[in-house]
Amino acid sequence: MEAIDSVLLVSGTHGNELSGIYLHHLIQQGLYRTERDSLSVETLIANPAAMDKGLRYVDQDLNRQFNARARQNAQSGNETRLAHSLRETYADREQQMVIDLHNTTSNMGATLILLSSSPYYKKMGAYVKQQMPNAYILFEDQIAWEEQAYLCSMGKNGVMIEVGAQAHGALQFEPLELMKDMLTAVLDFIDLANRNALPALTPNYEAYFYLGPVTLPLDEHGVRTAMVHPRLDGRDFEVLRRGDPMFITFSGDDMVWDKDEDVYPHFINEAAYCLSHVAMELAQKKTVSLS
Ligand SMILES: [Zn+2]
Repeated sequence: MEAIDSVLLVSGTHGNELSGIYLHHLIQQGLYRTERDSLSVETLIANPAAMDKGLRYVDQDLNRQFNARARQNAQSGNETRLAHSLRETYADREQQMVIDLHNTTSNMGATLILLSSSPYYKKMGAYVKQQMPNAYILFEDQIAWEEQAYLCSMGKNGVMIEVGAQAHGALQFEPLELMKDMLTAVLDFIDLANRNALPALTPNYEAYFYLGPVTLPLDEHGVRTAMVHPRLDGRDFEVLRRGDPMFITFSGDDMVWDKDEDVYPHFINEAAYCLSHVAMELAQKKTVSLS
């Protein structure tokens, strides 16, 4: 991969996710430093109208507007206009990396979301994991780059940093520290890779590979008939094996994972997925090998 000569650091793609928005302020005030020898860093609040209202979005989710289908179905609205103008301004910058900062209400700690498992991103995961052993590396490479709808996929290179648990609209110390640590590691990686100065990387590490969402059971009126099981809630990235409880009905009956495959739930009870009744996303755990 060619050297990355610029980073577009995006906050406020979701207007109520405050770690990234406050990190943006800290950078403006010189309280968090992004300077690196081999690249320039430009910061951006992606959805100021949503931020001013304290909302995830005004009309539609901005972080789902960047694949061909979203462009074709584009209705008029704040986020459609924003997506168009962001693409016009930034998408053609060949040697740019977009880093998009997010919060989740799920207990995901610091999670680096990678949309490609190319050698470059595998190495980035290894480096970040080496700097932050408790971080999670989540590959969402199940679809091609062009089909990705996330803002960070608008150009050729991009990643997301997802930090939780933090309620949307709240700002807490620990998630902000985790976000700073992960951003520092990602910026360092890009700079070191540019200068061919990466340290020795562990040849193998554990990472998660996205499978898909699980929705809550609903009755014929679209009302939920169960909740995430209390033994699973808050246990993002822990294994779920056949027979483990997944949901609990309102009368107290367990509903279990009934497949043979071990899976790793995350985005468990994410507040922003409320309307779609998504209870969690599932991943597989695999060993990533750099060789
Ligand atoms: Zn977000």
